[in-house]
Amino acid sequence: MFTDITQAKLVQHRLQSEIDRLSQVRELHEALAEQRFELFAQPIIDLTTGAVVSHELLLRMRERDGSLRMPGTFLPAAESCGLICELDRWVIKQAARLAGDGHHVELNLSAASLGDPGLYDNFAAAIAEHEARPDHIGIELTETAIMQDETIAAMFIQRVGVLGCELALDDFGTGFGGFAYLKNLPVDYLKIDVDFVRDLCMNTASRHVVQAVVGLAASFGLRTVAEGVEDDQTLSMIRDMGVDRAQGYGIGRPGPLADTLYGTRDAEMS
Ligand code: C2E
Ligand code: CA
Ligand code: CA
Repeated sequence: MFTDITQAKLVQHRLQSEIDRLSQVRELHEALAEQRFELFAQPIIDLTTGAVVSHELLLRMRERDGSLRMPGTFLPAAESCGLICELDRWVIKQAARLAGDGHHVELNLSAASLGDPGLYDNFAAAIAEHEARPDHIGIELTETAIMQDETIAAMFIQRVGVLGCELALDDFGTGFGGFAYLKNLPVDYLKIDVDFVRDLCMNTASRHVVQAVVGLAASFGLRTVAEGVEDDQTLSMIRDMGVDRAQGYGIGRPGPLADTLYGTRDAEMS
């Protein structure tokens, strides 16, 4: 009897999760059809000159009531139903449009998109359509995404490298994949994860990780970007440690494109 009740609860719980997931998937399809996805942009600075050299494009979903949803609340559902590939393609198109306007931008690609054999043609077509310079578009990939299907990922990465796009390994330091692929892929930047940067001034272990990534990057001839720089003290510490570029709330928050790339209004509030 006890087992029956426990199992019934388990089944009920699983059904409820599936119903929630399907309703989220429906919401995403509606948002896509109603063009309620938006890109925000966050500045990336060169630590030697202090100049803004690029912007990372970050996806947001606008609710019908005007409120904004962060990627953490909708990307898992988009990944679970494959809609993420459509979203990534939309982002590629926007990035090509912005690069065509002369902006330097970085975009994020998911593991699922990276495994899509049609991705390169889509990318190249977007660049051609907007007459964008490929070297104005940086592509951010996580190690996990690359390692899901290394062969297809490597093909895409080699081809965009030949086009002239810069490639950054995102969330670097959080994976456990080893570094062998760094020898074979045309990676330009290692992006040091927020988790190691945010508490750099208080945490010795984080300082060791950042120092190790800077050393590793130097030995492979790569450059580094620190993400999650929240204050001036961290900014000066990473500069002293030899990090090349930085991004974070202490430098500039992600904001709507109209403000960050084309205008002057305030960026995202905390
Ligand atoms: P990510 O690529 O690691 O992006 C950096 C995240 O750190 C962003 O969160 C950004 O808003 C946040 N961040 C920036 N500065 C600071 C800081 O100083 N402190 C802290 N604590 N956080 C900071 P966001 O916008 O919520 O994006 C979360 C993740 O969603 C991204 O992580 C990326 O993996 C994914 N994502 C965002 N946009 C896209 C997209 O267009 N396509 C795909 N496939 N994934 C995306
Ligand atoms: Ca990123
Ligand atoms: Ca990251």
